[in-house]
Amino acid sequence: MAVSYETYGQWIDNQYQLSSDRMNVTNKFTDSVIAEVSVATKEEYVKMEESAVQASRHLLSTYERYEILKKAADLLKDRQQQFGEIIAAEVGKSISEATGEAGRAALTLEVSAEEAKRIQGEVVPVESAPGSENRQAFTIKEPVGVIGAITPFNVPLNLVCHKLGPALASGNAVILKPAEVTPLSALKLAELLKEAGLPEGWLHVITGKGKEIGTWMTESERIQMITFTGSPSVGLWLKQRAGHKKVSLELGNNSAVIVHKDADIKKAAEQVAQKSFNNAGQVCISVQRVFVHKEIKASFLKEVKHYTEALVTGDPFEKETQVGPMISKEALKRVQQWITEAVDLGAQVLTGNETDGNLLKPTVLVDPPQHAKVCQEEVFGPVVSILEYETEEEAIDFVNQSKYGLQAGLFTNDLTFIMRAAKEIKVGGLIINDTSGYRVDHMPYGGLKESGEGKEGPKYAMQEMMNERLIVLQPAE
Ligand code: ADP
Repeated sequence: MAVSYETYGQWIDNQYQLSSDRMNVTNKFTDSVIAEVSVATKEEYVKMEESAVQASRHLLSTYERYEILKKAADLLKDRQQQFGEIIAAEVGKSISEATGEAGRAALTLEVSAEEAKRIQGEVVPVESAPGSENRQAFTIKEPVGVIGAITPFNVPLNLVCHKLGPALASGNAVILKPAEVTPLSALKLAELLKEAGLPEGWLHVITGKGKEIGTWMTESERIQMITFTGSPSVGLWLKQRAGHKKVSLELGNNSAVIVHKDADIKKAAEQVAQKSFNNAGQVCISVQRVFVHKEIKASFLKEVKHYTEALVTGDPFEKETQVGPMISKEALKRVQQWITEAVDLGAQVLTGNETDGNLLKPTVLVDPPQHAKVCQEEVFGPVVSILEYETEEEAIDFVNQSKYGLQAGLFTNDLTFIMRAAKEIKVGGLIINDTSGYRVDHMPYGGLKESGEGKEGPKYAMQEMMNERLIVLQPAE
């Protein structure tokens, strides 16, 4: 395993600086300590800000940004296995999923590099207004300045790349705060970006306490934008404190999938089993609520049970493991309580609900009432609930009965239903004949309602990370 015990400092000006306080990072399957990271002080944070402001006064050309990010993407591809091992250890996701994440992270950087070359404004035909006949106008895009980026534990490398790639491609300096429990892949990425040629000042990685760092960032005049991925409560907390800063929020979801009566039942069941339990269900677009047409419910349940029970749960470093542990005992306990509540309210357990350490066997619940927490809230654990519907209208209503709206899936070949769902389902992305869990990194990704605001995907995130300025020209006389 590539993760050797190290003590990490704050990443300031392309090097580590040890703080006096430390916290441990553990392997989420064995609970053993695998590294120690520094807990930042306010002074260290201010130093990062000053350096970032300084760097952002002398912009890198778009070609330089391209070259650095492309080189970083290539280096990451070369080290996909090493990064995969770090992710598997610090998150607990299976090694195949973790290496897959590292590969995707490289693509996210590569697409960001490409997008750096495509930054462009537009021509504005001011001359068409009376009195402006001899003027011409166009817009340019300028970086916002310094961006504070805060990321969650579940996808610790690729979600970091979804912040850093677009921020650096659009010419911003960044202070990144990775999740307390999974900071190692982000720190290693900072080292890699230095190797790829990123000069001092453009990226700082701060480790420490979320709330403290969030307070420093939101109160600071030097930070022009906060980009956050994480829980709705923290997202709202940041937004309320951000004042006039730009804010981009990627928050939760209780993703729904509709399986209509004409669907390919086997395919739908296989996909649902896959995408409900990836990373032990700790994924924003993980399938959580499945609405299946009454006529096919029995055969769908049989298939889902089959595919779910075929999933191998265990040590993330075992090659055949598909589902690893949850991030912590507390998270596991909370999910168990929600399962118990659903069962008390009348749900049946089709399979799962057994634990071993931090492992929770993939769990399928049937017919929990819609007011149960497993339907209302984001479970963020390996639990999916299956409920039935009769009419298309009812299915759409059920999906929309959610405070979230990130992505949803619909299995059907009924074009009329697809077109209606496309208009009426209130989400950022609707995936036909696949689950809510579909994502490729260059697509626009972001939700409605409590799922957040702003889009990710390098091209889309970059629009949020730049200011558009109008330039109007006219001859001196
Ligand atoms: P998750 O548990 O899914 O990672 P959280 O919202 O708890 O979701 O955490 C996401 C990120 O936000 C982490 O990096 C965490 O340290 C950070 N965080 C937690 N509380 C705050 C806060 N008040 N301000 C800023 N960041 C915070």
